[in-house]
Amino acid sequence: MALTDLSEIRMIMERHGIAPQKKFGQNFLVVPSVVARIADTPGDSSIGIIEIGPGIGTLTEQLAPRYRKVVALEIDTGLEPVLADTLHAFDNVKVVFGDAMKTNLRELVASEFDGGRVAVCANLPYYITSPMILFLLENGSLFDSITVMIQKEVADRLCAAPGTAEYGAITLAVQYACTVEKCFSVSPGSFFPPPKVTSTVIKMTPHEKPPVSVLDKDNMFRMIRAAFDFRRKTLVNALSTCTPKSKEEITSAIVSCGFSADVRGERLSLADFAALSNVFTL
Ligand code: SAM
Repeated sequence: MALTDLSEIRMIMERHGIAPQKKFGQNFLVVPSVVARIADTPGDSSIGIIEIGPGIGTLTEQLAPRYRKVVALEIDTGLEPVLADTLHAFDNVKVVFGDAMKTNLRELVASEFDGGRVAVCANLPYYITSPMILFLLENGSLFDSITVMIQKEVADRLCAAPGTAEYGAITLAVQYACTVEKCFSVSPGSFFPPPKVTSTVIKMTPHEKPPVSVLDKDNMFRMIRAAFDFRRKTLVNALSTCTPKSKEEITSAIVSCGFSADVRGERLSLADFAALSNVFTL
């Protein structure tokens, strides 16, 4: 089916009496070359794919012929008759209705992919991009790779360098879990209805083991959260908001790691936070 064809999309929607649901972040892709490029990105045809948010099946129908099996998780049950119609020709596609963020992905992978390798490929709904990425990365060990289209602004944050305005706690959470590659940008005109922002397709490859050695991961992430919750404060002042320990003790730990006493947290790399966390417990 020509699911990227605007008149076809309108006809399908009219036939089923539906319209794009803003509350579910429904912006459907309408440019065939963009859909094909996203579908090509996971790369290895022997793997299975989990897609989040198939919508009317635009990306799904491109993934199905390229990969072993596709399991698509869709929150909007109103799309059930549409997807039954648009994807009926593919016997390697299964659509599961429900909230992807409430899905037990470990169980899903075990039950649907017989222990085979799996990747995620999705045009994510923008209203929950960051929590969805963190949710996928919590389950990162299940996946070969995670290809997602997200707002350019979020992609910039995930790939940001220390000291820049885009650098934040999510940059470090993502760096700890995976490598991130920006693949290509997609303009608002590639969607129906068009979103207000430019999009970027990124491919995340989960690390087999963490890139830094850290004694207490929770301690490190509590430090990171405090540093960016109070990013205008010095690191000493930011950390003192979440520990009973004295500022002198915190300062001495910071200085022992080679930073100046008045450094701000936004200057520290992941390796720096790991080093600090290894000499100081909040
Ligand atoms: N894949 C289609 C495309 O590229 O044209 C649609 C992408 S649209 C940006 C996002 C899709 O995610 C919508 O179909 C929406 O209903 C679905 N969605 C939104 N929140 C979801 C959630 N929590 N779990 C599963 N699907 C969700």
